[in-house]
Amino acid sequence: MRYAFAGLFIVMIFALLACMSVARRSYRKIKGAVLMLLGMLIPPMLGNLIIILSTVKIPATIGCYVYFIGMDAFIMALLHFTFEYCMIKWPSNIPRYLVYTLITLDVVQYALNPIFGQAFDTEAIQVDGRNYHRLLPYAGQTYHRLVVYGIFITILLIFLIKMIRSARVYMERYFVILITMVMTGVWQSYYIFSRTPVEKSMAGYGIFGLLIFYFTLYYRPLTLLDRLLANMASDMPDAIYFYDVFGRCIWANDPAIRLAGIKDERYDSATELLQKKFGDPGNYKDPEWSCTKILGHGADAQYYYHFKRTVTDDRGKATGDFLTIRDITAEQRILQQERYNATHDRLTDLFTKEFLFESIRRKLNENPEKDYLIIYIDIQNFKLVNDIFGTSFGDETLKQIAELLRKQVPDSGLFGRIGGDTFGVCIPKEDFHEKELDKELINFTVSHGNKEHQVVLHAGIYEVVEKDLDISFMFDRALLAMVTIEEEYQTHIAYYDEKIRKEVLWAQHISAQLKDALRKRNVVPYLQPIVNTDGKIVGAEALARWIHPQDGFLPPSTFIPVFEKNGMIVEIDRYMWRCACEILADWKKNGRDLFISVNISPKDFYFMDVAEEIKALVKEYDIDPVKFRIEITETVMMTDIDSRMKVLDELRQAGFVVEMDDFGSGFSSLSLLKDMPVDVLKIDMKFLKATADDDKAKTILQNILNLSDDLGMFSLTEGVETKTQLEMLSKMGCKLFQGFYFAKPLPLNEFDSFLASWGA
Ligand code: C2E
Ligand code: MG
Ligand code: MG
Repeated sequence: MRYAFAGLFIVMIFALLACMSVARRSYRKIKGAVLMLLGMLIPPMLGNLIIILSTVKIPATIGCYVYFIGMDAFIMALLHFTFEYCMIKWPSNIPRYLVYTLITLDVVQYALNPIFGQAFDTEAIQVDGRNYHRLLPYAGQTYHRLVVYGIFITILLIFLIKMIRSARVYMERYFVILITMVMTGVWQSYYIFSRTPVEKSMAGYGIFGLLIFYFTLYYRPLTLLDRLLANMASDMPDAIYFYDVFGRCIWANDPAIRLAGIKDERYDSATELLQKKFGDPGNYKDPEWSCTKILGHGADAQYYYHFKRTVTDDRGKATGDFLTIRDITAEQRILQQERYNATHDRLTDLFTKEFLFESIRRKLNENPEKDYLIIYIDIQNFKLVNDIFGTSFGDETLKQIAELLRKQVPDSGLFGRIGGDTFGVCIPKEDFHEKELDKELINFTVSHGNKEHQVVLHAGIYEVVEKDLDISFMFDRALLAMVTIEEEYQTHIAYYDEKIRKEVLWAQHISAQLKDALRKRNVVPYLQPIVNTDGKIVGAEALARWIHPQDGFLPPSTFIPVFEKNGMIVEIDRYMWRCACEILADWKKNGRDLFISVNISPKDFYFMDVAEEIKALVKEYDIDPVKFRIEITETVMMTDIDSRMKVLDELRQAGFVVEMDDFGSGFSSLSLLKDMPVDVLKIDMKFLKATADDDKAKTILQNILNLSDDLGMFSLTEGVETKTQLEMLSKMGCKLFQGFYFAKPLPLNEFDSFLASWGA
C-alpha cells in the first residue's frame, strides 16, 4: 500500500508537470500565478515521496525538510494565487511584511534544526514490514503549523467572503476552489494530528492542483454566458423572436410579446400574430432579410424596422432564426422633419428654390410629351412695402402670396419661393388660364391688422420649348419677360418671346465687345452745341456713339440701356469723361471758351466715388471745373438721397456746374427740386413737343421756366427743332437751348467746322 501511494504521487507529479507545460501556452493573465502554484505543489509531494520510500533515517529526514520548507513556499504561492484570482491587493504593507517575516523565520528555524533539534525528529516504526520514519514534532514544528494554518485559514476566509459577495452566477467560480481547499485541508489535518503513518492526503494536493489548472485556465462558465445573453435579450428595447429550424417561434422577449400580443407564453403563435399586424413578410426565407413596415397613415404612421437572420452552427448548418423588430418612428419623424426643413421655406412653407428646380426637372423628364410654362412672379417695390408698413406686414404679404399660389396652381403644377420677394411656378400649358391669373394679380390686396395695401404683382412667363435647358435659365427667361412690364400699369403678365430673346443675345454680343471697343476708341464722343439767348454757342453736350466694325454706326439707344442694366455703363462714362477732358484741354490751349456737359448714370454712384474721380480727372488735365458740366437725372435721387446730395454738393463746391437732365420725364417731385443742389434745369423735350397742339402744355412749360427762375436756376430746353419753338421759349424766359434746329450731335471735326460757320 505504501508503494502504491508512492506510485500515485509520482503519477501526480508528472501530471502537474504536464499541466504546467500546457498552462505556459495560455494567454490568461492569471497564468503566472497558476504556474507558480502548480510548481510549488511539487516540493511537498516530492518530500513526502522521499519519506514514504525511505527506510533509513537520513533520507527520511531530508524528505521532511523538503516537505516542510516546500510547504512554506506552497502557502506563499497559494496566497499569491488567491490575490490574483479574487482580484484583491494587500490592504497595506504591514500584513505583507508580517507574512514574509513569519515564513522567513520558519525557514530559518528549520535550518537551525540539525544543530538545536528544536523543530522535529523522526522515529522508526514498521509499516508494511519495513522501516518507516515517523515525525516527532517539537516546538519549532508547532510554530510551522501555526504559520501555515494561519495563512491557509486567511485564504479560506478570503474565498468565502468573495463568494458571498458575488452575484449568483459568479459564486461557482469561488465555490469549487473553496470546497477543494477545505477538503484537502481537512484530509491533511487528519493525517497530521492523528499521526497516522504515510501521509496519503498529498494525493489531495495533486487533485487540488489539477482543479486549479482547469478552473482558472479552461473552464468556461456556460451558465454565466447563457444568463448574460438571456438577460441582454430580455433587456433590449427591440422586440426579439427566436425560431427553431422548423420556423416555430420558441422564445420572445417582453417587447416582442407586447408587440405581437403573445398570450400565456404561447410563442408559437408569434408568426401568425405578426403576419396579421404587419402583413406578408415577403422574402422571409432568405438567410438575411430586412424591411421597414409602416402601420397607419400620415402623421399617425408608425415605422418598424424588421431584421431577420438565420443562425448557423460551426459546420454551417442552420440552427434557427432570430427576428428583431425596432420601432423607428421617432427617427423617421426627425428624418422627415429634416428633409422637410431642407426643402421648404420657413416663412411661407413653400418649396425652396433648389427643391423647386429639382422637382421641376423631374416633372419635365417624366412628362416629355407635355408642354409646360415657367412663371416668375415678383412683388413690385417690396422694399417699399417693408419700409412703409413694416416687416411683419411684408412677411404677411409673402404668406398671402403663398396662399394664393396654393389656391391657384392645380395639382399638375409645382410652385415655390425662389427669392426674397419672388416666386416660381411650373404648370402644364393646358392647365394655365391667363385671365384668372391676371385677375388675381390685379386685385391682390393684403390686409394685416389695421393696415391694408394693394400689392402690385408682375409675372413673366417662359414657355418651355427647350426642355433640356437648365431650370434656372428657364426662370431667367421668365424674369427677362417680366422686367419688360416694369414701367407699365395695365399689364401684369408678359411672355418671353423672340424680341426678348434677340435683346438678350444683343446684350451678350455687345457686352463682350465693350472693353475692346473702348480700347480701340470705337466709342466716340459726339458734341451737340448749346446756344444762349444771344444766339451764341456757349457749350456742348458730349453724347456717345459706337462706330462698330461689323454692326456700323450705333446710336446710344442701342447700347446705353443695356449697359445701364448690367452696370457696364460705368466703363463708358469714365471713358467719355476722359474724352471730354481731352477736348477741353485742347480747347484751352486754343483759347476756345466753351463748356462740355457729360452724362452721369445713376449706376455710376453705386460703383465709384463720382466726385473723387471727376475731381481727379480735371486736375490731371488741368481744366477749370466750370467748363466741365455734369448731367444727372432725377432717378439718381430716387435712392439714398442724402449721400447723393452730398456728392453733388461736393462737386459744386469744387466749382463744377450740375445740371438736372430730362427734368419732368420721370416722377419728379417739385418739392424735392427746391432742396436740389443743381444749377441748371434741363427740361425734357416732351414738354416742348407737347406745346405744338396743346395750350395747357404751354402753361406747364411756362410754369417750369418760372419755377427754375424762382429757384435761381438756369433753364435749358432740349429738343429745339424749329425757329418758332426757339422764339416761344425765348419769350417764355428760357436761357439756354439745345436741339436739331442748331445742330445734331456732331463728331469733333464737324463740330469744329460748324463752330467756324456759326461764327460767320
Ligand atoms: P440726353 O442726355 O437727354 O441727350 C439728349 C438726347 O436728345 C440725345 O440723344 C440727342 O441726340 C437728342 N436730341 C437733341 N436735340 C434733339 C432734337 O431737336 N430733337 C430730337 N428728337 N432729339 C434731340 P442721344 O444722343 O441718342 O442720347 C440719348 C440718351 O443717351 C441721352 O439722353 C443720354 O441719356 C444717354 N447717353 C448718351 N451718351 C451717354 C453717355 O456717354 N453716358 C451716359 N450715361 N448716357 C449717355
Ligand atoms: Mg444728357
Ligand atoms: Mg436730356
